[in-house]
Amino acid sequence: MGIFSKFKSGLKRGSAVLQGAFERVGVRGSLNQEDLFEIEEAFYACDFGPETTEEVLEEIKISFRDQKKADDGGLVNTARTVLSKILSGSEGMLDHSNDPSPQVICLVGVNGSGKTTTCAKLGHQLSLSGKSVMIGACDTFRAAATEQLKEWANRLALDLVSGHHGSDAAAVAFDAYSSALAKQTDYLLLDTAGRLHVKDNLMDELSKLKRVIQKREPAAPQHSWLVVDGSTGTNGLLQAKVFHQKFGLNGVVVTKLDGTSKGGVIVSIYRELGLPIFYLGLGEQPDDLQPFSVENYLDSLFPAYLSSINA
Ligand code: GDP
Repeated sequence: MGIFSKFKSGLKRGSAVLQGAFERVGVRGSLNQEDLFEIEEAFYACDFGPETTEEVLEEIKISFRDQKKADDGGLVNTARTVLSKILSGSEGMLDHSNDPSPQVICLVGVNGSGKTTTCAKLGHQLSLSGKSVMIGACDTFRAAATEQLKEWANRLALDLVSGHHGSDAAAVAFDAYSSALAKQTDYLLLDTAGRLHVKDNLMDELSKLKRVIQKREPAAPQHSWLVVDGSTGTNGLLQAKVFHQKFGLNGVVVTKLDGTSKGGVIVSIYRELGLPIFYLGLGEQPDDLQPFSVENYLDSLFPAYLSSINA
């Protein structure tokens, strides 16, 4: 499946809801209060959040006032333009030319958000693009995390450094960094623990991990990404503030967009955090992690209207 097909398939629930609302308006050719309510409901149902929904409705009203007819393709174009403006600057991009190596990417987030899986998928992606990758299994707290990552690493032929269950996560990170440095690996990906985010001991553990790596390389970790479960809507975003405060984040990965998520959460997350989104998790297979692209995202939300957009 190509990249766009994955986006499209992952975001099909949201696109069905939006398309349904716009089509009904288009068939009637009118735009009364009830129609606006229908569009509003659709945007809410897709987790775009109140501000974005409000902005979309305002622009739709203005465009209808100017054009005097409710053509659904035109309204979708208006909605797209609003979303695209909100998402401006949201595409994170790894700069492969960066020195020094290894570039360290540290994945943080609550339990179950998809850190371990993302770590493996990202390692796979980077190695497919010709980069050498080392994985540091620093989630020494969750018994299965290291095993899970070892299995992935075996399957995908990725180098991995791990420790014993319950061992010091910072020590694993340090060993992994040393090994990546010695092997001149391009990227070091660190999976971290995610138990209760408000627990200070996790935050202390993460701070220590960072300090220990910075002793070797003050610029590391070059990337500290929050992994967010996109199927939980924006509920989980309070956690982000805690991680941001304690760890300093500079990117986001949104996972599980292939599940129950209706996709608008991407816009809410970007609005809330203002951090670039690097990747989307669109399934459980190694190639189901895709670089975030605003264009692919919007095309996938409104696939039925691509011809009117490109016209
Ligand atoms: P962690 O606790 O943050 O390390 O989370 P895991 O990586 O162990 O993921 C928790 C569960 O979510 C696992 O069953 C993963 O297979 C699943 N998962 C992670 N990312 C995705 C995704 O993008 N799509 C789907 N459908 N499942 C995912």
